[in-house]
Amino acid sequence: MSIIVQKYGGTSMANSECVKNVAEKVVNAKLRGHDVVVVVSAPAGFTDHLVSRAKEITDKPSGRELDMILATGEQISISLLAMAIKALGEDAISFTSAQVGIITDGNHNKAKIEAINTDKLLKALGEGKIVIIAGFQGVTKDLEITTLGRGGSDTSAVAIGVALDAAEVEIYTDVDGIYTADPRVVPNAHKMDYITFDEMLEMAGSGAKVLHLRSVELAAKNNMPIHLRSSFSDAIGTYVLDEEDKMEHVLVRGVAHTTNNAKITIANIDNTSKNIALIFKTISDANINVDVITQNYINIDRITISFTVAQEEYDRALELSKDLGRRLKADEVYGNEKVAKVCIIGVGMKSTSGVASRVFTCLADHNVAIDMVSTSDINITCVVNQDDYAKAVIAIHNEFEL
Ligand code: ASP
Ligand code: MG
Repeated sequence: MSIIVQKYGGTSMANSECVKNVAEKVVNAKLRGHDVVVVVSAPAGFTDHLVSRAKEITDKPSGRELDMILATGEQISISLLAMAIKALGEDAISFTSAQVGIITDGNHNKAKIEAINTDKLLKALGEGKIVIIAGFQGVTKDLEITTLGRGGSDTSAVAIGVALDAAEVEIYTDVDGIYTADPRVVPNAHKMDYITFDEMLEMAGSGAKVLHLRSVELAAKNNMPIHLRSSFSDAIGTYVLDEEDKMEHVLVRGVAHTTNNAKITIANIDNTSKNIALIFKTISDANINVDVITQNYINIDRITISFTVAQEEYDRALELSKDLGRRLKADEVYGNEKVAKVCIIGVGMKSTSGVASRVFTCLADHNVAIDMVSTSDINITCVVNQDDYAKAVIAIHNEFEL
């Protein structure tokens, strides 16, 4: 019998009605003939609540004690779900990570899974039980409780799927799939049937927040298909797969965007790699994440460097950059606190030329000024003024007939 891993997120576990609904879906999968392993998140809002309880005590709780409290939310969900499944007449057993042996490194609050012991899981499945596992948490070799970072139960589910060599991992959530653009911005955006791992990684890294990034990385590395779908309907969602040949050939799969960006420019400095290294070392030493970077030549000896950071980091990054500007004798250091990133993503552009020119022409036709551009073989990212992002996303969505 094939093993299937199902993961239910916080909104699917929000209250008793939701838990009973999940129990029915799980039992249906079992009745269809699968061995079913379920990974669950804490009830919606519960982990936030635990974080705020900790912060009421101290601004800086230790990582170990924070994990101790954060790991409790998922334990509520596994117990309730096991009860609900048993009430429907199927046998089920719940396990914490420590009971299973989901071994992580010791990096509290952002631990990485190193190994999963499948003995107990396979034994329980062999006895005909539905197995329910707490997501998000792990345990070190020394039995210290850890968590994988917020949103981490997607990653738990994929890791467990890989360990058990499951047929697929179904991730049930409150949306019915991955969309060609954010439907709040593009009303005629539609749900995709398929997306490749690489495209999903780009989408997830560019504002589409449906899946924990590490879960996609892990699925890609192990070629584990993910089926992202709604826990409130039986409709097919979106498959995240390796098999491009199964999919319709499209140039552009989707348009993602982020609006939480700010841009800083250090204008007219000496063009030496030492200067460029100094800029990005200073920013990264301050623990600020740099996103898009461009370098423009004034002449062969002088350049202007621009980069984007998250808006929360803007003030600090600008202050550091002004200081750098003085040291590097820049003409000027300035910023724009409100820019947006529009990312055009599709594996089809690897083998087809002219996508970038169509993007730029389309944006020009719609009077959207492009501030910065960065590209990979499957992603064209344009930084635009914040006021223009919706216009840009809609125009590109239309241009490529998504
Ligand atoms: N409950 C955890 C969180 O809220 C993990 C998860 O939902 O994936 O971040
Ligand atoms: Mg989530």
